[in-house]
Amino acid sequence: MLKVYNTLTKKKEEFIPLSTDEVKMYVCGPTVYNLIHIGNARPIVVFDAFRRYLIDQGYKVNFVQNFTDVDDKIIKKANEQGKDTSEIVDFYIKETLQDMENLNVLPATANPRVTNEMDEIIAMIEQLIEKGYAYAVCGSVFFSTDKFKDYGKLSKKVLEELEAGARIEIDNIKAHPMDFVLWKPKKDGEPYWISPWGKGRPGWHIECSAMSKKYLGDQIDIHAGGEDLIFPHHENEIAQSEAVNGKHYSKYWLHNSFLNIDNKKMSKSLGNFMLLRDVGEEFGYDTVRFFMLAAHYRSPLNFSDKLMESAKASLLRIKNCSEDLNFVLDHLKNESKNISTEFTQDEENLLTQIDSYNTRFYTALDDDFNSADAISIIFELVKTINSYIKTGKNKTLLLTFKETFDHFNDVLGLLYETEIKASSLTDEEILNYIAKRSAAKKNKDFATADQIRTFLEQNNIQIKDTREGVQFKRV
Ligand code: AMP
Ligand code: ZN
Repeated sequence: MLKVYNTLTKKKEEFIPLSTDEVKMYVCGPTVYNLIHIGNARPIVVFDAFRRYLIDQGYKVNFVQNFTDVDDKIIKKANEQGKDTSEIVDFYIKETLQDMENLNVLPATANPRVTNEMDEIIAMIEQLIEKGYAYAVCGSVFFSTDKFKDYGKLSKKVLEELEAGARIEIDNIKAHPMDFVLWKPKKDGEPYWISPWGKGRPGWHIECSAMSKKYLGDQIDIHAGGEDLIFPHHENEIAQSEAVNGKHYSKYWLHNSFLNIDNKKMSKSLGNFMLLRDVGEEFGYDTVRFFMLAAHYRSPLNFSDKLMESAKASLLRIKNCSEDLNFVLDHLKNESKNISTEFTQDEENLLTQIDSYNTRFYTALDDDFNSADAISIIFELVKTINSYIKTGKNKTLLLTFKETFDHFNDVLGLLYETEIKASSLTDEEILNYIAKRSAAKKNKDFATADQIRTFLEQNNIQIKDTREGVQFKRV
């Protein structure tokens, strides 16, 4: 039974979707004025893995992630570079989608962009005004926080206390200090849209309420994002959506903790960020994905080169185990004499152990998606497989190992073909060199055999002589 920690109730709750047809999931996406940093990659990876787990559990997941493509920072960048904002956002959306693919993130059901959804956004603001939750003043529209009686229910903030704190920077066109903007009037040099309140553009929070309503309906199962979004972004989304729809908005609210550098949140504004592109190219995007999932999503995660090195080495143990297991199985195909169907007592015990790995893997993920514990079980399995394949030959057992191991890795999306290959030699070319080296060794021409090995090493190909034949790895 899957339980998730719901920020709304501050409790781990059993996950029961609103409908048996599909799980509706909305994840707030990045503001596209820069390549994403690895802090932004955390919600992208953890909620993709969470989605994969739901799929593994038999759910159909309707997964929506937006792009914020109109914002002060985008406008500033466009003005600095003398470009149109659409040129900036088109470029960064394309690059962000590429980054997501490199992280083995499943494509979203929809990736709406704010600038394509203006009709829905304006319609929602109009409804808020009609229902008395919002008011227009001097070309702006504000949400009246004191009209929404549940304001603060997600962040557990009390409106009166917030108002007292906000009084110093009171904005004299707002009726109350905590009222927030739904529509802003146009300023010089800014993109604008025509609305009943004049030319302007929407505030940030209304976009997600409008897009999740359009793509998923009035009520959704899961709303997710980084913990910095709890207040005010998600609190304001609840106020807008519930005021318009008159229904409870999202059943579960999931928030990932921060990725930190020196115990400070990595952020563009603090300037302490590392681009995913750079880290991915240095350590491998699959290492970044592994690194994110090797921690529980609600625990703070510190970033350093040293930790990335160690994540890379850990992931390599998983990759090597996968290659070794496939290699042994491939060679077993041709060796019918070694295929045994009878289990020894030790092999019977290993089968029982695989059952227990399965149970523990699912128990970990059922407990608020504890991918850290799930990964430690993968490592226990790696150890067991490595030890068995040294001598063991039972094909049924080897296939059971493979099935379990591949399944665990697939649920988390850990092992995948990364584009960046260390060698430009094709498999066929490598096998040719290996055959030449074997022939040279057979003729006792060890100098040539060594030369071929050195040549392959220079091309980032490592070869290993095993009892089953020569195995190669790209390193
Ligand atoms: P932004 O582009 O700043 O709106 O961020 C996009 C997503 O990344 C949001 O869900 C943020 O909460 C999340 N995020 C930003 N910085 C970090 C960080 N250092 N650690 C974890 N998540 C982050
Ligand atoms: Zn949002």
